[in-house]
Amino acid sequence: MNRTGGRGARRPAVITILATAMVLAAACGGTTPGQPRTVGDVAGLPVTHFESGLRPQAPKPDVTVRDATGSEEDRIAIAAIADVSDYWTERLPADFRQEFEPVSSLLSYDPTGEEIEVCGGTTADAAMNAFYCPPEDLVAWDREMLLPLLRERFGPMAIVTVLGHEFGHAIQYRLGPKAGVDEATTTIVKEQQADCFTGSYFRWMAEDRSRYFVVSTSDGLNQVLASLFFIRDEAGQSAKDQGAHGTAFDRTYAFQLGFEQGATKCASIDQADVDARITEEAFDAGDSGGGDARINEEMMQLVQQSLDEAFAGAGVEAPEIVDDGGSCPNGPDTAPASYCPDTNTVNIDLEALAQLGQPVDRDAEFEGNESAGGLGDFAAFAEVASRYTQGIQHGVGASLDNANAGLRTACLVGAWAGAVNGEGNTLRLSPGDLDEAIAELLRPRSLIAADVNGHPVANGFARVEALRQGYLDGSEPCTRQYG
Ligand SMILES: [Zn+2]
Repeated sequence: MNRTGGRGARRPAVITILATAMVLAAACGGTTPGQPRTVGDVAGLPVTHFESGLRPQAPKPDVTVRDATGSEEDRIAIAAIADVSDYWTERLPADFRQEFEPVSSLLSYDPTGEEIEVCGGTTADAAMNAFYCPPEDLVAWDREMLLPLLRERFGPMAIVTVLGHEFGHAIQYRLGPKAGVDEATTTIVKEQQADCFTGSYFRWMAEDRSRYFVVSTSDGLNQVLASLFFIRDEAGQSAKDQGAHGTAFDRTYAFQLGFEQGATKCASIDQADVDARITEEAFDAGDSGGGDARINEEMMQLVQQSLDEAFAGAGVEAPEIVDDGGSCPNGPDTAPASYCPDTNTVNIDLEALAQLGQPVDRDAEFEGNESAGGLGDFAAFAEVASRYTQGIQHGVGASLDNANAGLRTACLVGAWAGAVNGEGNTLRLSPGDLDEAIAELLRPRSLIAADVNGHPVANGFARVEALRQGYLDGSEPCTRQYG
């Protein structure tokens, strides 16, 4: 996050909250602090809780994979190939009036082992990778480093996600003109389509139509989103770069689009669509410190100013941010930031927020040592913003202590981020900021998507969607949808 350079004219407030649009929802869920709440649905499907993974009675896959071992990772990968083939056998004729042709070859490789020539290179160059090779119509995966890391860190669904994505490329080439794909198609368009196809495949699985896998719409889809987050591009890469795959914000958007609207929608993703909404952009010259601001008193005053500007249209008294320990003397304790209704203040623990706002350490993230770095400055600012929006919601008479309040909060934080990204706000977003908010949202105890008492909504899918909706469409849907 950065302060705005010029002293341009202030833009009128873009955020308005209409008290009349707030339909107060009945409280639900338990009262244990930090206990996730179950709410609503996931794109029309119920929120389910069970272990996601291979079915114990899954059939033996009828696919041949070169160099596959008997490892659990290969077992999941091979079942994923068989499963996603089932999916496309059903959907290609139904959605595109085309018969499915199985992928010509499949390869499981060890990048540290015997070198195999593949797709104009060798497997030694493809460590921590999985890929689709169009000229050979081949899907290949690193069984030794990538797959075990994905499984260990996120669970079995991470492997299925990555292979579903690579298979999405194979489908894209089969569709050709029906997906608008030719030699000139940019990487980012192809990647967005592949993430979207992965989403449509997971929808089918979540509808319990897979013979091989079961996926819950809570923890199961959380595994998917966390792995998409993990394989995001570095902050500061441009969507125009050769090889751009998108930020976590962009990648989860495409996945959720496919989950909600199906494969034909995915095939319609084109350059114009991507240009209109992609968030991936390079750092500009004004971005000091890789986009991460120091979190101190001065910066917090700018955050206060930015929030006041963004929510002036609500017509309620703005909550005041005070650095006084992070919890309310006579109320909620959701440190490092709490909203205190009786004083209309956001009580913060500046030191703890500065810790949370340390830059992301990507190397440590790869090694599984996440505690080495923070989540980035915007994660910390968004937590403060989430408590601030509780004050705005309180001011207009909305309920603060139920699951809808959590989603409405995430949506309003997104609306603030959108306002910041526009012209005239005190602050502006840096590349990577939105992904920092997503990292926070995917934590079990996210504060951005929590109600006044710190109860987060159980499913990451709904949390991320709510933030994105506010970011893209402003605050109006926040009150309409999460009334
Ligand atoms: Zn790809």
